[in-house]
Amino acid sequence: MRSSTHTVDGGCAITLEGDIAEGASFSDIQVHGRRIVLQLAGVDRINSRGLNAFMDFLKRLSLRAAVEAEQCSPAVVVQLNLNPALTSMLAIGSVMVPLECPSCDFESVTPVPVAGLERAPAVEAPPCSECGAAMVVAEPEERYFAFLRM
Ligand SMILES: [Zn+2]
Repeated sequence: MRSSTHTVDGGCAITLEGDIAEGASFSDIQVHGRRIVLQLAGVDRINSRGLNAFMDFLKRLSLRAAVEAEQCSPAVVVQLNLNPALTSMLAIGSVMVPLECPSCDFESVTPVPVAGLERAPAVEAPPCSECGAAMVVAEPEERYFAFLRM
């Protein structure tokens, strides 16, 4: 797992990338301010050991600031749907939704805002960057966005 931080209005943003698994360490991540925004588009995988470390980190953060999560990758969304305790610790602003092209099988993701929603939003998929066909959401939407009802 790689992490980087930068200053945003009122606090800091933390970008996490790669696998959150054995050996993922959050202890070196320095935070400041009253607002913390996690940028999670680059998270490839989370396993149970990584999830425990991540949730300990979130508990520590929540003592000092509200924790926002932006562009949660599909790997993060899987965990949100499995773990209401994780979902309850985050103000989720947006998620990355997997898309597939029915014409050429190209796959991509698109960011979808979800702040304040309690049910699956209508996803506006951009055209395929390879062949121009209309892309479709690659996951059953009611299941993918189930965390919104938690
Ligand atoms: Zn295509």
